[in-house]
Amino acid sequence: MLSADTQLVEARLFVPKEVLSLASAGIHRVRDLLDWLPRRYEDRRRFDAFPAEPGGAPVCLRGTVIDTRNRFGSRVRFYEAVVADARGSGVGPATITCRWFNMPFLAKVLAAGQEIVLHGKPKEFQGRIYIDHPEFEVINDSSGPSIHLERIAPVYRNLSGISQRRLREMQYQALAEVEPGSLAAPFDVDPTYPRADTYREVHFPDALEQAEAARRRFALEEFFVLQLNVVWRRARIRHANGRVQGKNTGLLTAFYHSLPFDLTGAQKRSIKEILGDLREPRPMNRLLQGDVGSGKTFVAMAAMLLAVDSGSQAALMAPTQILAEQHFLTFKKWLEPLGIRVALRTADRRESSHLEIEGAPQILIGTHALLFDEALFSDLGLVVIDEQHKFGVMQRGRLIEQGIRPDVLVMTATPIPRTLTMTIYGDLDVSILDERPAGRGKLVTALRIKPKQTDLTQFVKDQLTAGRQAYLVYPLVEESGKLKAESATAACEKWVKRLPGFEVGLLHGKMDPEEKERVMRRFRDREIHVLVATSVIEVGIDVPNANLMVIHHAERFGLAQLHQLRGRIGRGEHKSYCILLTDGKSPDAMEKLGVMAKTSDGFVIAEEDLRLRGPGDVLGTMQSGLGDFRFPDFLADTALLREARALADRIISEDPDLTGSHVALAGHIEDRPDAQTVS
Ligand code: ADP
Ligand code: MG
Repeated sequence: MLSADTQLVEARLFVPKEVLSLASAGIHRVRDLLDWLPRRYEDRRRFDAFPAEPGGAPVCLRGTVIDTRNRFGSRVRFYEAVVADARGSGVGPATITCRWFNMPFLAKVLAAGQEIVLHGKPKEFQGRIYIDHPEFEVINDSSGPSIHLERIAPVYRNLSGISQRRLREMQYQALAEVEPGSLAAPFDVDPTYPRADTYREVHFPDALEQAEAARRRFALEEFFVLQLNVVWRRARIRHANGRVQGKNTGLLTAFYHSLPFDLTGAQKRSIKEILGDLREPRPMNRLLQGDVGSGKTFVAMAAMLLAVDSGSQAALMAPTQILAEQHFLTFKKWLEPLGIRVALRTADRRESSHLEIEGAPQILIGTHALLFDEALFSDLGLVVIDEQHKFGVMQRGRLIEQGIRPDVLVMTATPIPRTLTMTIYGDLDVSILDERPAGRGKLVTALRIKPKQTDLTQFVKDQLTAGRQAYLVYPLVEESGKLKAESATAACEKWVKRLPGFEVGLLHGKMDPEEKERVMRRFRDREIHVLVATSVIEVGIDVPNANLMVIHHAERFGLAQLHQLRGRIGRGEHKSYCILLTDGKSPDAMEKLGVMAKTSDGFVIAEEDLRLRGPGDVLGTMQSGLGDFRFPDFLADTALLREARALADRIISEDPDLTGSHVALAGHIEDRPDAQTVS
């Protein structure tokens, strides 16, 4: 028997070429192979009847290839196979045609006479039923019981160099050879049920329910490790000594009275929650979540005034210089009349404006670099991090590590699904701004496939003539950022010609900061009417008079990004329009853009984003420092996540330092050394 931790190179289960293929997919140990779970299952005990109609769910068919040929369409070539129903059941048609585009090598794999299993969605084309690009497996064993047929067969994510069939055999062999005890986990979420059995059930289930139960066990384990880290961090913060602030509310009251509008109910509620935290002797660690335009800045101002009123300094960190500068202007506008000293500090501008004011600044605005410049602060009581999903868990940890231990408020404009909130921000308390400030005009989103340029130009002209302003957005592809910036530049020249009498400005990431700032200021002051821009405006300026955004090649942007972009308009009293332009070629893109047209609810968009892209990608853009998740289904597994949280809570309360009965778990804590300096 082999230990689960045996290297496959040493295990001698498979030939070297196969071991290499596995290694290139990150599968090195027997355990890694077994963790390569099925992506789906096919119940090969009874196959579907050959479909007579298109649409519906994918079908799983068994048949014999009776004819194959390479074909050439007007622009594409494809390999075609006619498959006959091997069962001869008489139900449904006797044959179906399958097509694979641009895969001529299939001629070597698939030939007449072979028996195959097919999986795919039936479609109709010119009156015939087809399956395009079905998954298929050639079956050539007719003798005896098989792991491939007459049972529920696992189907895996493709591994280059290894067929589905071979992979299934490898899993079967690994399961047979592995020492069951070596598959135990450091923390068994269900000690009464051997993990080795769960592995067997997930790969070769007797029923689909059994496979699902097995997957859930692995998902729970993965969530558990995550939550253990979250609960650990949270406990460190909770037990650290903080400061008591928020006793004096005089400044806050003066601030309320100075505002020309009433705060929304959600803003008031959030400020109250923050006030409660500030008054506690432990450090605040709170997340303020709200769509672009929901008024987070004003909540931050209120929090910072409470800190200032307690005699300490407050700092606000923005992800970019432009944003820091904008915050600085906003803060000066609202807080200087109250006698508060506000200063701007960014990496680029050392000649900071705080030299101009008398006395130490009470409020500092800057980029994230500010965080690590301790010399700036004499007595930092509150840090607000305007994170825009670009600021990771680790940096937050660093504040605590430095022993500054201020109260921390993290603001994010990216609404994220609850499961992810509990994962990424699980150590934070959460306040949500779910109410839009009053007095905003309606926002209409329209999806247009290649509209006539003259119509589009006319629509832009109409808005400008009515006194409004517009954003014309072009994509910026990261790898060739420069190129795309140029294409916005090219577009800008065209728009200058299309819009005589109006001032057209250009804004993109390759411009130097001074220039960007100058353009944005001119747009804000209505000297520029139309801003041709890349996604740099995603986190950016607040111009309520701008009511039109046209996003070109909208399919190139992610959902979350489109939502952020759209947040730039709909901020004023006028009716606003977001027009998404696309070529309509990709059905996936159309689905994605359809979501934007349908809803403006950031949480719904976030869930769709997660569904369409998967957690790996979504987490990736958040730079959360969390890896891929293999087992959980993030949308469906909220209950599992709660269960994992409860388990982690229980363990940390039983053994807070993981030095006692749960010492085996200590190795799973990522930031253990840092945490030790705190406690
Ligand atoms: P966020 O930071 O969440 O994107 P901001 O705090 O920048 O939002 O506010 C967006 C706009 O809404 C600003 O122009 C601000 O002046 C305005 N605003 C904020 N709160 C209110 C409110 N309660 N009533 C009316 N307008 C508000
Ligand atoms: Mg903001």
